[in-house]
Amino acid sequence: MEVIKSVRFKYYENFDELFRDFREMIEFCIVKALESGITSYARLRKAIYEEWKRRWYPKYHTHYCHSACKIATAILRNFRKRKRRGLTKKEKPEVKRGFIRLEEMLFKFEGDKIRITTSPRSYITLRLIVGEYQKRFIDAWKRGELDIGEIIVKQDYIIVPFKRRVQPKTSNTVMTIDVNEEHVTYSVFDSSGGVMKTARLDIYKAKRIHEDYSKKREKIQRKLSKKPLKMRRILQKYSGREKRRIEDYLHKVSSIIISEAKKYNSKIVMENLKHIRESINKKNKRLRRRLNRWNFRKLQFFIEYKVKWSGLPVEYVNPRKTSILCPICGRKLKKSLNGQRLLRCEKCGLEFDRDVVATYNLYKRSQNVGSLRSPRTLPDEVLLIKEGGTGELLKVAEYYCLHLKPP
Ligand SMILES: [Zn+2]
Repeated sequence: MEVIKSVRFKYYENFDELFRDFREMIEFCIVKALESGITSYARLRKAIYEEWKRRWYPKYHTHYCHSACKIATAILRNFRKRKRRGLTKKEKPEVKRGFIRLEEMLFKFEGDKIRITTSPRSYITLRLIVGEYQKRFIDAWKRGELDIGEIIVKQDYIIVPFKRRVQPKTSNTVMTIDVNEEHVTYSVFDSSGGVMKTARLDIYKAKRIHEDYSKKREKIQRKLSKKPLKMRRILQKYSGREKRRIEDYLHKVSSIIISEAKKYNSKIVMENLKHIRESINKKNKRLRRRLNRWNFRKLQFFIEYKVKWSGLPVEYVNPRKTSILCPICGRKLKKSLNGQRLLRCEKCGLEFDRDVVATYNLYKRSQNVGSLRSPRTLPDEVLLIKEGGTGELLKVAEYYCLHLKPP
Protein backbone atom coordinates (compact mmCIF):
# COMPACT_ATOMS: atom_id res chain seq x y z
CA MET A 1 0.00 0.00 0.00
CA GLU A 2 1.33 3.44 -0.90
CA VAL A 3 0.47 6.47 1.18
CA ILE A 4 1.07 9.96 -0.16
CA LYS A 5 1.37 13.10 1.89
CA SER A 6 1.57 16.37 -0.01
CA VAL A 7 3.62 18.96 1.82
CA ARG A 8 3.72 22.66 0.98
CA PHE A 9 6.89 24.68 0.95
CA LYS A 10 7.25 28.37 0.39
CA TYR A 11 10.32 29.43 -1.56
CA TYR A 12 12.46 32.48 -2.17
CA GLU A 13 12.94 32.62 -5.91
CA ASN A 14 10.87 34.28 -8.52
CA PHE A 15 10.70 32.76 -11.97
CA ASP A 16 7.98 34.34 -14.00
CA GLU A 17 9.55 33.39 -17.29
CA LEU A 18 9.19 29.66 -16.73
CA PHE A 19 5.56 30.12 -15.63
CA ARG A 20 4.80 32.19 -18.70
CA ASP A 21 6.46 29.80 -21.11
CA PHE A 22 4.85 26.73 -19.59
CA ARG A 23 1.43 28.28 -19.83
CA GLU A 24 2.06 29.09 -23.49
CA MET A 25 3.03 25.47 -24.10
CA ILE A 26 -0.21 24.22 -22.57
CA GLU A 27 -2.25 26.69 -24.56
CA PHE A 28 -0.43 25.63 -27.70
CA CYS A 29 -1.25 21.97 -26.96
CA ILE A 30 -4.90 22.80 -26.36
CA VAL A 31 -5.25 24.71 -29.62
CA LYS A 32 -3.61 21.86 -31.55
CA ALA A 33 -5.78 19.24 -29.87
CA LEU A 34 -8.96 21.18 -30.65
CA GLU A 35 -7.93 21.78 -34.27
CA SER A 36 -7.15 18.14 -34.92
CA GLY A 37 -9.81 16.62 -32.68
CA ILE A 38 -7.23 14.57 -30.78
CA THR A 39 -8.19 13.49 -27.28
CA SER A 40 -5.45 11.07 -26.27
CA TYR A 41 -2.23 12.17 -24.66
CA ALA A 42 0.04 9.91 -26.71
CA ARG A 43 -1.45 10.94 -30.05
CA LEU A 44 -1.35 14.61 -29.16
CA ARG A 45 2.29 14.41 -28.19
CA LYS A 46 3.14 12.72 -31.47
CA ALA A 47 1.15 15.25 -33.47
CA ILE A 48 2.73 18.36 -31.97
CA TYR A 49 6.22 17.16 -31.09
CA GLU A 50 8.09 18.59 -34.10
CA GLU A 51 6.43 21.97 -33.93
CA TRP A 52 6.89 22.13 -30.18
CA LYS A 53 10.58 21.42 -30.67
CA ARG A 54 10.96 24.18 -33.24
CA ARG A 55 9.41 26.66 -30.83
CA TRP A 56 10.85 25.69 -27.46
CA TYR A 57 13.84 23.46 -27.91
CA PRO A 58 16.63 23.73 -26.77
CA LYS A 59 15.44 26.40 -24.32
CA TYR A 60 13.38 23.68 -22.66
CA HIS A 61 13.93 20.00 -22.18
CA THR A 62 11.56 17.83 -24.26
CA HIS A 63 10.03 16.52 -21.03
CA TYR A 64 8.23 19.85 -20.81
CA CYS A 65 6.45 18.88 -24.00
CA HIS A 66 5.22 15.65 -22.40
CA SER A 67 4.16 17.43 -19.25
CA ALA A 68 2.31 20.17 -21.18
CA CYS A 69 0.52 17.56 -23.31
CA LYS A 70 -0.54 15.62 -20.23
CA ILE A 71 -1.96 18.69 -18.57
CA ALA A 72 -3.61 19.90 -21.77
CA THR A 73 -5.40 16.57 -22.30
CA ALA A 74 -6.57 16.57 -18.68
CA ILE A 75 -7.86 20.15 -18.98
CA LEU A 76 -9.67 19.26 -22.21
CA ARG A 77 -11.23 16.17 -20.70
CA ASN A 78 -12.70 18.30 -17.93
CA PHE A 79 -13.73 20.99 -20.36
CA ARG A 80 -15.66 18.54 -22.56
CA LYS A 81 -17.43 17.18 -19.52
CA ARG A 82 -18.48 20.69 -18.46
CA LYS A 83 -19.53 21.49 -22.00
CA ARG A 84 -21.74 18.39 -22.20
CA ARG A 85 -23.45 19.40 -19.00
CA GLY A 86 -23.94 22.92 -20.31
CA LEU A 87 -21.73 24.44 -17.63
CA THR A 88 -19.66 26.50 -20.02
CA LYS A 89 -20.26 28.42 -23.21
CA LYS A 90 -16.60 29.02 -24.04
CA GLU A 91 -14.97 27.66 -27.19
CA LYS A 92 -11.77 26.65 -25.44
CA PRO A 93 -10.75 26.18 -21.82
CA GLU A 94 -8.74 28.70 -19.91
CA VAL A 95 -5.34 27.78 -18.53
CA LYS A 96 -4.55 28.78 -14.99
CA ARG A 97 -1.71 31.16 -14.43
CA GLY A 98 1.29 30.31 -12.31
CA PHE A 99 1.12 26.57 -12.27
CA ILE A 100 3.73 24.02 -13.36
CA ARG A 101 3.72 20.30 -12.84
CA LEU A 102 7.11 18.66 -13.07
CA GLU A 103 7.77 14.99 -13.67
CA GLU A 104 10.41 13.21 -11.61
CA MET A 105 12.86 13.57 -14.50
CA LEU A 106 12.78 17.36 -14.42
CA PHE A 107 13.83 18.11 -10.89
CA LYS A 108 16.07 16.95 -8.17
CA PHE A 109 14.94 17.26 -4.60
CA GLU A 110 17.89 18.07 -2.36
CA GLY A 111 16.25 18.61 0.99
CA ASP A 112 16.25 22.35 1.46
CA LYS A 113 16.35 23.08 -2.25
CA ILE A 114 14.99 21.81 -5.50
CA ARG A 115 16.98 21.91 -8.68
CA ILE A 116 14.75 22.22 -11.71
CA THR A 117 16.07 21.25 -15.11
CA THR A 118 14.91 23.65 -17.80
CA SER A 119 16.99 22.36 -20.68
CA PRO A 120 19.77 19.78 -20.83
CA ARG A 121 22.51 21.05 -18.50
CA SER A 122 20.66 24.19 -17.49
CA TYR A 123 18.97 24.55 -14.13
CA ILE A 124 17.03 26.79 -11.79
CA THR A 125 17.55 26.27 -8.09
CA LEU A 126 14.64 26.91 -5.74
CA ARG A 127 15.55 27.51 -2.11
CA LEU A 128 12.78 26.17 0.10
CA ILE A 129 11.61 27.67 3.35
CA VAL A 130 11.69 24.75 5.78
CA GLY A 131 9.67 24.81 8.98
CA GLU A 132 9.60 22.20 11.71
CA TYR A 133 6.77 20.34 10.02
CA GLN A 134 8.49 20.17 6.64
CA LYS A 135 11.79 19.20 8.24
CA ARG A 136 10.33 15.93 9.55
CA PHE A 137 9.55 14.84 5.99
CA ILE A 138 12.92 15.92 4.70
CA ASP A 139 14.67 13.97 7.44
CA ALA A 140 12.64 10.84 6.70
CA TRP A 141 13.44 11.30 3.01
CA LYS A 142 17.16 11.57 3.85
CA ARG A 143 16.92 8.32 5.77
CA GLY A 144 15.51 6.73 2.62
CA GLU A 145 12.03 6.13 4.04
CA LEU A 146 10.22 8.33 1.55
CA ASP A 147 10.10 8.87 -2.19
CA ILE A 148 8.98 11.95 -4.04
CA GLY A 149 6.34 12.15 -6.78
CA GLU A 150 5.62 14.82 -9.37
CA ILE A 151 5.93 18.28 -7.86
CA ILE A 152 3.61 21.18 -8.52
CA VAL A 153 5.11 24.65 -8.53
CA LYS A 154 2.80 27.59 -7.93
CA GLN A 155 3.64 31.25 -7.79
CA ASP A 156 3.94 31.40 -4.03
CA TYR A 157 4.45 27.82 -2.96
CA ILE A 158 5.46 24.39 -4.12
CA ILE A 159 3.75 21.09 -3.37
CA VAL A 160 6.00 18.10 -2.81
CA PRO A 161 4.25 14.72 -2.55
CA PHE A 162 6.13 12.40 -0.23
CA LYS A 163 5.39 8.76 -0.92
CA ARG A 164 5.75 5.93 1.46
CA ARG A 165 5.39 2.21 0.90
CA VAL A 166 3.44 0.98 3.85
CA GLN A 167 3.32 -2.64 4.90
CA PRO A 168 -0.18 -3.14 6.32
CA LYS A 169 0.18 -4.31 9.89
CA THR A 170 -1.98 -6.90 11.54
CA SER A 171 -3.20 -5.48 14.79
CA ASN A 172 -3.83 -7.52 17.90
CA THR A 173 -5.71 -4.90 19.92
CA VAL A 174 -8.47 -2.39 19.20
CA MET A 175 -8.39 1.29 20.10
CA THR A 176 -11.65 3.23 20.02
CA ILE A 177 -11.56 7.02 20.01
CA ASP A 178 -14.28 9.46 20.99
CA VAL A 179 -13.70 13.08 20.01
CA ASN A 180 -15.70 16.02 21.28
CA GLU A 181 -15.40 19.70 21.94
CA GLU A 182 -13.08 19.48 24.91
CA HIS A 183 -11.69 15.97 25.09
CA VAL A 184 -10.37 13.06 23.17
CA THR A 185 -11.11 9.85 25.04
CA TYR A 186 -9.76 6.48 23.98
CA SER A 187 -9.86 2.90 25.17
CA VAL A 188 -7.64 -0.01 24.24
CA PHE A 189 -9.03 -3.56 24.24
CA ASP A 190 -7.20 -6.87 24.08
CA SER A 191 -8.22 -9.64 21.67
CA SER A 192 -10.78 -11.05 24.06
CA GLY A 193 -12.60 -7.81 24.82
CA GLY A 194 -10.78 -6.92 28.04
CA VAL A 195 -10.23 -3.21 28.65
CA MET A 196 -6.47 -2.61 28.83
CA LYS A 197 -6.58 1.14 29.21
CA THR A 198 -9.00 4.05 29.12
CA ALA A 199 -7.54 7.53 28.94
CA ARG A 200 -8.57 11.09 28.28
CA LEU A 201 -6.72 13.93 26.63
CA ASP A 202 -8.13 17.27 27.70
CA ILE A 203 -7.68 19.52 24.67
CA TYR A 204 -8.77 22.66 26.51
CA LYS A 205 -6.26 24.75 24.57
CA ALA A 206 -8.18 24.53 21.28
CA LYS A 207 -11.13 26.27 22.89
CA ARG A 208 -8.84 28.87 24.49
CA ILE A 209 -7.25 29.70 21.17
CA HIS A 210 -10.67 30.23 19.61
CA GLU A 211 -11.75 32.40 22.51
CA ASP A 212 -8.59 34.50 22.29
CA TYR A 213 -9.16 35.15 18.64
CA SER A 214 -12.83 35.92 18.92
CA LYS A 215 -11.96 38.58 21.51
CA LYS A 216 -9.34 39.96 19.16
CA ARG A 217 -11.85 39.99 16.32
CA GLU A 218 -14.41 41.86 18.35
CA LYS A 219 -11.85 44.46 19.26
CA ILE A 220 -10.80 44.95 15.64
CA GLN A 221 -14.41 45.25 14.54
CA ARG A 222 -15.02 47.93 17.13
CA LYS A 223 -11.88 49.88 16.35
CA LEU A 224 -12.05 49.76 12.59
CA SER A 225 -15.80 50.00 12.06
CA LYS A 226 -15.28 53.04 9.84
CA LYS A 227 -12.57 51.45 7.71
CA PRO A 228 -14.17 48.27 6.35
CA LEU A 229 -11.43 47.44 3.86
CA LYS A 230 -8.65 47.61 6.38
CA MET A 231 -10.82 45.70 8.83
CA ARG A 232 -11.38 42.89 6.39
CA ARG A 233 -7.70 42.58 5.65
CA ILE A 234 -6.75 42.44 9.31
CA LEU A 235 -9.53 39.98 10.16
CA GLN A 236 -8.32 37.69 7.40
CA LYS A 237 -4.80 37.81 8.72
CA TYR A 238 -6.01 36.90 12.20
CA SER A 239 -8.21 34.05 11.04
CA GLY A 240 -5.24 32.61 9.16
CA ARG A 241 -3.16 32.74 12.32
CA GLU A 242 -5.93 31.19 14.37
CA LYS A 243 -6.28 28.35 11.90
CA ARG A 244 -2.56 27.63 11.89
CA ARG A 245 -2.36 27.64 15.68
CA ILE A 246 -5.32 25.28 16.01
CA GLU A 247 -4.02 22.96 13.33
CA ASP A 248 -0.63 22.87 14.91
CA TYR A 249 -2.18 21.98 18.26
CA LEU A 250 -4.44 19.31 16.78
CA HIS A 251 -1.44 17.82 14.98
CA LYS A 252 0.27 17.43 18.32
CA VAL A 253 -2.83 15.87 19.88
CA SER A 254 -3.14 13.39 17.01
CA SER A 255 0.54 12.45 17.40
CA ILE A 256 -0.05 11.50 21.02
CA ILE A 257 -2.94 9.24 19.99
CA ILE A 258 -0.88 7.62 17.26
CA SER A 259 2.06 6.89 19.48
CA GLU A 260 -0.35 5.09 21.82
CA ALA A 261 -1.87 3.16 18.92
CA LYS A 262 1.60 2.13 17.81
CA LYS A 263 2.56 1.08 21.32
CA TYR A 264 -0.42 -1.29 21.53
CA ASN A 265 -0.37 -2.13 17.80
CA SER A 266 -4.08 -1.33 17.58
CA LYS A 267 -6.72 -1.16 14.96
CA ILE A 268 -8.36 2.27 15.22
CA VAL A 269 -12.13 2.64 15.50
CA MET A 270 -13.69 6.10 15.27
CA GLU A 271 -17.16 7.54 14.98
CA ASN A 272 -18.44 8.26 11.53
CA LEU A 273 -18.65 12.03 11.80
CA LYS A 274 -21.37 12.38 9.21
CA HIS A 275 -23.74 11.23 11.89
CA ILE A 276 -22.24 13.56 14.46
CA ARG A 277 -22.82 16.61 12.28
CA GLU A 278 -26.44 15.64 11.89
CA SER A 279 -27.04 15.41 15.59
CA ILE A 280 -25.19 18.68 16.23
CA ASN A 281 -27.31 20.50 13.69
CA LYS A 282 -30.40 19.76 15.68
CA LYS A 283 -29.07 21.61 18.69
CA ASN A 284 -29.00 25.34 19.10
CA LYS A 285 -27.32 27.64 16.66
CA ARG A 286 -24.59 29.00 18.91
CA LEU A 287 -23.42 25.58 19.90
CA ARG A 288 -23.50 24.48 16.30
CA ARG A 289 -21.30 27.37 15.24
CA ARG A 290 -18.84 26.64 17.97
CA LEU A 291 -18.70 22.95 17.26
CA ASN A 292 -18.35 23.37 13.54
CA ARG A 293 -15.51 25.75 14.09
CA TRP A 294 -13.99 23.18 16.35
CA ASN A 295 -13.42 21.00 13.44
CA PHE A 296 -13.57 17.51 14.76
CA ARG A 297 -13.19 16.44 11.22
CA LYS A 298 -9.77 18.00 11.14
CA LEU A 299 -8.56 16.11 14.18
CA GLN A 300 -10.04 12.90 12.85
CA PHE A 301 -8.41 13.56 9.50
CA PHE A 302 -5.02 14.07 11.14
CA ILE A 303 -5.46 10.86 13.11
CA GLU A 304 -6.60 8.92 10.06
CA TYR A 305 -3.74 10.00 7.88
CA LYS A 306 -1.19 9.27 10.59
CA VAL A 307 -2.71 5.86 11.22
CA LYS A 308 -2.53 5.00 7.52
CA TRP A 309 0.99 6.35 7.34
CA SER A 310 1.97 3.91 10.06
CA GLY A 311 0.19 0.98 8.39
CA LEU A 312 -2.43 0.36 11.09
CA PRO A 313 -6.05 -0.26 10.01
CA VAL A 314 -8.89 2.23 10.58
CA GLU A 315 -12.61 1.59 10.81
CA TYR A 316 -15.60 3.92 11.15
CA VAL A 317 -18.81 3.04 12.90
CA ASN A 318 -22.15 4.75 13.29
CA PRO A 319 -22.04 6.46 16.70
CA ARG A 320 -25.83 6.55 17.15
CA LYS A 321 -26.69 6.26 20.84
CA THR A 322 -23.14 5.17 21.69
CA SER A 323 -22.92 7.81 24.41
CA ILE A 324 -26.22 7.07 26.14
CA LEU A 325 -26.38 3.28 26.52
CA CYS A 326 -24.92 1.38 29.45
CA PRO A 327 -21.85 -0.46 28.13
CA ILE A 328 -22.56 -3.34 30.52
CA CYS A 329 -26.29 -4.02 30.29
CA GLY A 330 -27.32 -1.90 27.30
CA ARG A 331 -29.98 0.04 29.18
CA LYS A 332 -30.48 3.76 28.53
CA LEU A 333 -28.41 5.81 30.96
CA LYS A 334 -29.79 8.67 33.04
CA LYS A 335 -28.15 11.96 33.92
CA SER A 336 -26.29 11.85 37.19
CA LEU A 337 -26.76 14.41 39.91
CA ASN A 338 -23.03 14.33 40.62
CA GLY A 339 -21.78 16.01 37.48
CA GLN A 340 -22.66 17.06 34.01
CA ARG A 341 -20.57 14.54 32.19
CA LEU A 342 -21.56 11.59 34.35
CA LEU A 343 -24.31 9.13 33.49
CA ARG A 344 -25.97 6.60 35.75
CA CYS A 345 -27.26 3.09 35.05
CA GLU A 346 -30.14 2.23 37.33
CA LYS A 347 -29.81 -1.46 36.74
CA CYS A 348 -26.06 -1.80 37.31
CA GLY A 349 -25.95 0.99 39.87
CA LEU A 350 -22.85 2.50 38.24
CA GLU A 351 -21.97 6.04 37.26
CA PHE A 352 -19.97 6.41 34.07
CA ASP A 353 -18.20 9.24 32.34
CA ARG A 354 -20.14 9.89 29.15
CA ASP A 355 -17.12 9.71 26.83
CA VAL A 356 -15.81 6.54 28.44
CA VAL A 357 -19.21 5.02 27.73
CA ALA A 358 -18.86 6.10 24.10
CA THR A 359 -15.49 4.39 23.65
CA TYR A 360 -16.90 1.12 25.06
CA ASN A 361 -20.00 1.19 22.91
CA LEU A 362 -17.90 1.94 19.84
CA TYR A 363 -15.95 -1.20 20.60
CA LYS A 364 -19.08 -3.31 21.07
CA ARG A 365 -20.53 -2.01 17.83
CA SER A 366 -17.41 -2.46 15.73
CA GLN A 367 -16.64 -5.94 17.05
CA ASN A 368 -20.26 -6.94 17.26
CA VAL A 369 -19.96 -8.28 20.79
CA GLY A 370 -22.35 -8.05 23.71
CA SER A 371 -19.98 -7.61 26.62
CA LEU A 372 -16.62 -6.35 27.79
CA ARG A 373 -14.32 -7.40 30.56
CA SER A 374 -13.16 -5.06 33.31
CA PRO A 375 -14.79 -1.82 32.09
CA ARG A 376 -13.99 1.37 34.02
CA THR A 377 -16.44 4.07 34.93
CA LEU A 378 -13.84 6.85 34.72
CA PRO A 379 -10.62 7.03 32.68
CA ASP A 380 -7.46 5.53 34.21
CA GLU A 381 -5.64 8.74 33.43
CA VAL A 382 -6.39 12.28 32.36
CA LEU A 383 -3.79 14.32 30.52
CA LEU A 384 -4.06 18.05 30.12
CA ILE A 385 -2.50 18.76 26.72
CA LYS A 386 -0.52 22.00 26.63
CA GLU A 387 -0.08 24.01 23.48
CA GLY A 388 3.40 22.65 22.93
CA GLY A 389 2.00 19.13 22.87
CA THR A 390 3.21 18.02 26.29
CA GLY A 391 0.75 16.42 28.64
CA GLU A 392 0.28 17.17 32.31
CA LEU A 393 -0.98 14.15 34.19
CA LEU A 394 -3.92 15.03 36.44
CA LYS A 395 -5.28 13.13 39.41
CA VAL A 396 -8.51 11.64 38.11
CA ALA A 397 -10.51 12.28 41.28
CA GLU A 398 -9.40 15.91 41.41
CA TYR A 399 -10.10 16.36 37.73
CA TYR A 400 -13.68 15.29 38.16
CA CYS A 401 -14.18 17.59 41.12
CA LEU A 402 -12.51 20.42 39.27
CA HIS A 403 -14.35 20.15 36.01
CA LEU A 404 -17.69 18.72 36.98
CA LYS A 405 -19.49 21.08 39.26
CA PRO A 406 -22.88 19.77 40.35
CA PRO A 407 -25.69 21.37 38.34
ZN1 LIG B 1 -26.14 -1.08 33.14
